[in-house]
Amino acid sequence: MTTNTLPRKSQRLGTRLASVVALTLLFVVGGAGAVAISLTAQAYREETLQRAAAMLTMLAGPAALAVADSTFDKLDGYLCEAVRPNGQDIQLLSVVTLDSAGRAVAGSTDALGPPPIPGESHQISQQFSEQAVRSPHPMWRRLVSARGAVYLIVSAPAVSGLRWGTLVGVFDAQLVEIRITRTLRYVLLIVFLTAGLLAAVTYAAFSRMAVQPMQELAHAAESIRRGQHGKRLNWHRRDELGMMAASFDHMAEEVERFTDSLQRKVAERSAQIEEKNRELHFANTQLRVVNTELERLAHVDPLTTVANRRSFDAELLQLTQRAVNPPWALLMCDIDYFKRVNDTFGHPVGDVVLREVARLLRDELRGADRIARYGGEEFVILLADTGPETAMEVARRLVTVVSRGEFDRIAGLALGAITVSIGVAVYPEDGGVQDQLLDRTDVALYAAKAAGRNRVVRWSPELTTAPLS
Ligand code: GH3
Ligand code: MG
Ligand code: MG
Repeated sequence: MTTNTLPRKSQRLGTRLASVVALTLLFVVGGAGAVAISLTAQAYREETLQRAAAMLTMLAGPAALAVADSTFDKLDGYLCEAVRPNGQDIQLLSVVTLDSAGRAVAGSTDALGPPPIPGESHQISQQFSEQAVRSPHPMWRRLVSARGAVYLIVSAPAVSGLRWGTLVGVFDAQLVEIRITRTLRYVLLIVFLTAGLLAAVTYAAFSRMAVQPMQELAHAAESIRRGQHGKRLNWHRRDELGMMAASFDHMAEEVERFTDSLQRKVAERSAQIEEKNRELHFANTQLRVVNTELERLAHVDPLTTVANRRSFDAELLQLTQRAVNPPWALLMCDIDYFKRVNDTFGHPVGDVVLREVARLLRDELRGADRIARYGGEEFVILLADTGPETAMEVARRLVTVVSRGEFDRIAGLALGAITVSIGVAVYPEDGGVQDQLLDRTDVALYAAKAAGRNRVVRWSPELTTAPLS
């Protein structure tokens, strides 16, 4: 439903009603008019006949006297006089006086028989005249010629004491018919005008009373459909349209209330959802932080904060399996006589020493190198992009750095010197597989320990001694 179609439909309603009214009027008024005209025309024609008969009867008296006196010439003149134009709606065209045998004894024409009827055969007036001669009363008949002309043929007995004869005349009644037709036209015109006028009035009244309010109602409904819920008709009418408008306004009220409450609820729910989303987002962020921390802790040794063994093993496995960027060196570093530190100063002091050794080692490495706590007081170190000579150099530097560490100051105790021993193996020269490389650094470490500790030994095939447990 659109605003464009509604008014057109409503207007069609008015047009239809106007058409119904016009047609009804045409049928009713036209029918009644037709009957009235037909009756009036009939009465008018009847009256015309009577007038014609009366005119002829007036002529019949003098005619009877003339026949009685046998003054036929005089009668001819008299009858000729009667057919002169009289300016009335019926005009006597011809008249003859017949004797009792039906012979013409005088007339307005030279005819010896019955009066001629223009355009008609002689026989009609012949028959009429024969009947008229026998009839004691006036007779009349209406004739319509083939060309549509209307004639009246009328008779009147010529009586003066005795019946001396019969007058038969022919009248032209065309004017009467013209008047009847003209009247009929006027009546029809009035009927059509009245029907048209009433249809127009009906259309205008119906448009004003019903179509316009309906259009207004349709537009109001359309406004509400488009979301203008405050739209109201506010009609104060007592008719059915008023009831409809009141129902509409009531409905609009309900729609507005319902929509408002719906919008309020939607806003509330939206706010709640937004709040929940915020909480969820916050929880997610926290979870991410915790996960990141967990992830970090999973790869980190908690005591020394360097990488743990698991993380280092995974990296080492990748390096050996993919043979990434050779050469590189693997160092196994173990604190010398650490048990003594624990035994002498206690486990917590041992932890302090462990942390400091880890820091010293880590600080000495480059960013690309890796360090991990591999066992109790053992560290593995991966020197990236490093050949045997450099590896030995770095390892020796590490040994020196630890041996120069300020452990006494850090622990607040006279710990004495802390040293480390380091075993070195170079990839791929000293081994191409992870376990093999680790074993060989272990063997080299054992050799360093055996050689007096606080030193570095690189693996070589000659070092066959089993590693320290
Ligand atoms: P060596 O020179 O032959 O290596 O002698 P060592 O005393 O260091 O012997 P070993 O390496 O076998 O001793 C390791 C000791 O490290 C044993 C254990 O008590 C100690 N240890 C292992 N983990 C920790 C730890 O987390 N904290 C402390 N304080 N001590 C640890
Ligand atoms: Mg050890
Ligand atoms: Mg040790």
